[in-house]
This record gives sequence, C-alpha cells and structure tokens, in this order.
Amino acid sequence: LVSRMRPFGTTIFAEMSALAVRTGAVNLGQGFPDTDGPPEMLAAAAEALRSGRNQYPPGPGIPELRTAVAAHQRRFWGLEYDPDSEVVITAGATEAIAAAILALCEPGDEVICFEPYYDSYAASIALAGAVRRPVTLRPDPDGRYAFDPAALRAAFGPRTRLVLLNSPHNPTGKVFTRAELSLIAELCQQHGTYAVTDEVYEHLVFTDAGSGHVPLATLPGMRERTLRISSAGKTFSCTGWKVGWASGPAPLVSALLRVKQFLTFVNGAPLQPAVAVALDLPDAYFTEFRSGMQDRRDQLISGLTDAGFDVLVPEGTYFVTADVTALGGTDGVEFCRALPERCGVVAVPTQVFYDDPEAGRRLVRFAFCKRPEVLAEAVTRLRAT
Ligand code: PMP
Ligand code: GLN
Repeated sequence: LVSRMRPFGTTIFAEMSALAVRTGAVNLGQGFPDTDGPPEMLAAAAEALRSGRNQYPPGPGIPELRTAVAAHQRRFWGLEYDPDSEVVITAGATEAIAAAILALCEPGDEVICFEPYYDSYAASIALAGAVRRPVTLRPDPDGRYAFDPAALRAAFGPRTRLVLLNSPHNPTGKVFTRAELSLIAELCQQHGTYAVTDEVYEHLVFTDAGSGHVPLATLPGMRERTLRISSAGKTFSCTGWKVGWASGPAPLVSALLRVKQFLTFVNGAPLQPAVAVALDLPDAYFTEFRSGMQDRRDQLISGLTDAGFDVLVPEGTYFVTADVTALGGTDGVEFCRALPERCGVVAVPTQVFYDDPEAGRRLVRFAFCKRPEVLAEAVTRLRAT
C-alpha cells in the first residue's frame, strides 16, 4: 500500500456495523435509514430496470436527472444552474468530493476543512497529495458547536486551494449560520480560494435551527467559485444507490467531470431516472421527511438524557452527539467498543474524525434515522446500563 494511504485503516462505520452484527446490538452507529424512500421513486427504478435502461448512461448523467437537479436547486435555494454545462451526476457525494479535490488540487496544495470531518475527506485529500488544514469545531457553553474565527483566518495561506465545507455537518449536527458562512465567503474571496460544499443533509435542518439551511453558493461572489455537492442517499433514504451530483460554474464542473470519467466513468443507469422523479416530488414530501426525522431526534434526545448522557442538540442531519463523561466514560473509542456488551447498542466515537483526538475525546455519535420502535428499544437498553 502506498505511504499516503497507510494511515487509513478500515472505516469506523464498517468496524462498528460489523460489531453490531456480531453482538446483535441495535445499530445506531453507521447512518442509514431502516425504511425505504418514496414509493414513486422505487416504482420508477423498477420500471427503468424492466424497460431496458441498463446500459451506460451519458458521461455527465442522463439529461432528465440533470434537469431535475437544476430545477430542484432553483425551487429550494433560488440557485440557477444550466443542466447541460453546470451539473454532473456522480457515484454518490463521495465520488463528487473525491473528483473535485483530485481535479482542483496540485500536490502540496492545502484544503481547509472543519474537524470533526466526514472520513472520506482526509483520504481524498491524501490521494490528491494535498494537505488538510483542519479548523476545530468545539461545543461552546450553550452546547452549540462553534469555531474560532481567528483559527479560520489563520488557516488560510498562500497554498490554500479550497475550503471543503459540510453543512449541515456530520457528525456534529451543526448548521453553519449565515454569519459563519459570510466569514468563510469573505476569506475565500480575499485569498482566491475555491469552495466545495457537501450539502447531503440539505433537507434535514430542524425548525428550531435559526435561519435554516443556507447554501454557501447563494452568498454574494460565491456562486462562481463554488462546487456544490449533494446526493439522493439521505434525502430519499436510498444510501445504497450512490447517486449524487455536483453543480457549479462550467469550468469547475468540467474539471470535475474530467476526473470522474476515469474513476467510475458513469453510474446508476436505472436509478438516475428514479432520482429525477424523487427530486420533483411536491414540497410536502420534503417537509414530512424533515418533521418525521425531527420527531425521532427528539425521541432519542430525551431517551439519551434520561440515560444520563450530556446531549448536544443537533440543528440538522440525522445524528446526535453526546458527552460520555457523566456516564463514567473518559474515552469515546473505549466507550463505543464496550457499549454493545454493556447494553446492546452501537454508537460511533467522534474522536476518529479529528486530527486532534483530544478535542473529541469524550464525544460519541448516535444515528436517529431509525423506526421509532427501534429507537425506543435502544433507549430502553441504554437506560438499563
Ligand atoms: N458527506 C457526508 C457528510 C455524509 O454523511 C455522507 C454519507 N454518508 C456522504 C458525504 C456520502 O454520501 P454518498 O453516500 O452520496 O456518497
Ligand atoms: N454517512 C454515513 C455516516 O456518517 C455512513 C457512511 C459510510 O458508511 N461510509 O454514518
């Protein structure tokens, strides 16, 4: 194995899901829903399979999906993208992120990201020979994750090539505020830096989350320097489909496509028309999806609180983080490795998503994208510890 990949072992998600299977624990580790997405979408996929849409789709994705991606962003965020030159379909957000980094970074270029970060970021940055410059999110006294603006300013330098921003943010559940985004936008413009935004949880921002979701590309001066990435997995509960997309100005999208064509070439032929159907669903689908998830968030938060955890209330995503100190925990990794034996529940330690593990030493993440009866069972088990 090449040296740049040696620091990367098996992902924590695979490790913890295997532990759940081995121990029969309730798996609140890896984030995947236990119910299927909208029936219209599933029917469209079945129909596409049967009607012979099983060969290579066009490189940038089928026109009907690119059109639906553009229309969806206009409807929800007022963003205009040309489906022919400014949208490309990818194998999930993961491929879009990797292709964006590989397309934009020379070896030695720096990528600013907020830690804890989604685990593929570090690996994609390393594959490009680029260098990550993490800015740390820490719980503030109000229990909200925040970063030090001076640390963000200090992270920018002559080699900064791009900011990789995930909002709503996994694993913290933080939704970046307009003020925070404005600072990021100001620094990007001052330093001539691109932005790559991972917005896979764009439809999971809870109603008590202040200003709601604000795509960075909607801020003045940012559309022309931002590649905006999302995917179907979270919004339509089909994480195994791996259909994602990137939108941005034509030169950035065509750079990404240049790389994507040699990573996977194309993906998901019969799934692409189905995702186009899902993106066009009426607003009610998106509102109900969010409010259903908000109920589950509240159910899990109250259960965790009763069980003695110090819970940090997420503003978005389908994850909640908690401090394990009050339960006698001093280290999230040890805590999560012992939890299945202790009470039959799996969670994920968030310290593995930090370059500075100390910052997340006592924090663990639970996923609440599960049926209410599954959450209730998890809570019963946790309370019995
Ligand atoms: N970014 C974040 C923040 C995620 O949580 C995930 C998913 N699990 C992804 C990217 C990957 O998305 P996809 O499955 O579409 O590749
Ligand atoms: N995004 C999901 C999570 O954070 C799972 C991703 C994965 O398994 N690679 O749990």
